[in-house]
Amino acid sequence: MRNVREVLRDWEAVIGLEVHTELTTLKTKMFCDCRLSHDDPPNTNVCPVCLGMPGALPVPNERAIEAIVMAGIATDCQIQRRSYFYRKHYFYPDMSKNYQTTQGPVAFCMHGHLDLEVTGQGAEERPEFTVEKAAGGSYVVPIRILRIHMEEDAAKMVHVGGTEGRITSASESLIDYNRCGTPLIELVTEPDLRTPEEARLFMEQLRQTFRTLGISDCSLENGSMRCDGNVSIRRRGDERLGTKTEMKNLNSFKALHDALAYEICRQAEVLEEGGVVCQETRHWEPSRRRTVVMRAKETSDDYRMYPDPDLAPFDLSDEFIERCRARVPELPLAKRDRYVADYGLKRADAAQIASNPAVAAIFEEVVVAVAKDVIPTVANVVVNLLPATRAVTAAQVASLADLLANNTITFAAAREVLETVDGTDANPETVVDERGMRQSTDTDALKTTVDEVLIRCADQVRQYREGNRRVIGFLVGQCMKASHGTGNPKLFNQLLRERLKG
Ligand SMILES: [Zn+2]
Repeated sequence: MRNVREVLRDWEAVIGLEVHTELTTLKTKMFCDCRLSHDDPPNTNVCPVCLGMPGALPVPNERAIEAIVMAGIATDCQIQRRSYFYRKHYFYPDMSKNYQTTQGPVAFCMHGHLDLEVTGQGAEERPEFTVEKAAGGSYVVPIRILRIHMEEDAAKMVHVGGTEGRITSASESLIDYNRCGTPLIELVTEPDLRTPEEARLFMEQLRQTFRTLGISDCSLENGSMRCDGNVSIRRRGDERLGTKTEMKNLNSFKALHDALAYEICRQAEVLEEGGVVCQETRHWEPSRRRTVVMRAKETSDDYRMYPDPDLAPFDLSDEFIERCRARVPELPLAKRDRYVADYGLKRADAAQIASNPAVAAIFEEVVVAVAKDVIPTVANVVVNLLPATRAVTAAQVASLADLLANNTITFAAAREVLETVDGTDANPETVVDERGMRQSTDTDALKTTVDEVLIRCADQVRQYREGNRRVIGFLVGQCMKASHGTGNPKLFNQLLRERLKG
């Protein structure tokens, strides 16, 4: 099979996503006051409502409605003043009342968008953006969001004694109703994505947004954020949509990307051989790197959806919506733009800092505590050194940035200092003094180190003299190591070149 980038030269992929997010930061379920927890013993957080006992009446969780309205405001959706809960019928033990409570044609949030910024390899797969690509290697495309609706999660089932956890071959099935009734928001995009890379970036950007809102931990590994992808292809220039297939439960960014890439290639092969693509739901098998058919697609008629008579139409007041709006914090893209404008950070560095609320909080605490000319160094430390740490305080980062900016220590030494103070209240400057890590500007001492290294590295010296100038990097590295990170790499570079000339 051809690879996806080749296929996308002839064919255009049309991709839409459905993203389910559990509102993990809430304390209780969607329609009852049972505790939300992933850790409790099975079937301990249950009551007549979430077990679907006859006569039990649901009461909506106001915190969950706040969360979905905040998600809608953050993605520029129109917040609907009136919406309804529906019953979506199906028969399966994971929902004991035999219907899921969800929303109908009108959801709390309708018609929004998320502006997707695509850089690097992803930018090469969308030919119509050639001009922008040439300008900055990136493009921005608004991905329309059809709706974000509220629904409840089903119970968790584990199928024992079969192959690959499939129910068809299992000897018994276990069920845990703790998850039943967990508030979920489902976001449905319009089919505006065109490449697997765009789909992956969209999920990342959405996750950053929801995390910043504090409505979910958005863990793909633990299943609190889950993604279905649908894709069809058409010849470039063709307006008509092809037949789409849907892939369920893509549980990592890589699975989402790879499953879409595989499916685009598979569909192209089918069509190029004169076949037809069937509308069906497919399952991604990461171990075999392929999709296989799960079932032919059901239509919404099969669910017999109708408004839930136990839940009155939902009216949101202006006051409620404005209260939610006031609680939406600054979002990652706005934050990134502000860092570029106010602190002169590189766009990529600003984006990386802004994408993680905890990292951004430390950065903002540090920048107000240091001199303006130290800020680029702060960004450097936060981008390159902070991700490897567990618990470093803003004061420690500020002190470290000062030491770096006034050339007291080298970057290599800074890494070691940060590892040492991580998780303690130690002062970086004290560590530097205790370990004798102050950068040496004593040229004679550095020359001695250079001479030692040149004697030890006779092979590289020969290579350099034969014309391989790149080994200088290796030699500088050896000098840094020999000086325990206290030598200045620029000075070492200069001294090495002088010595090697002779
Ligand atoms: Zn309950």
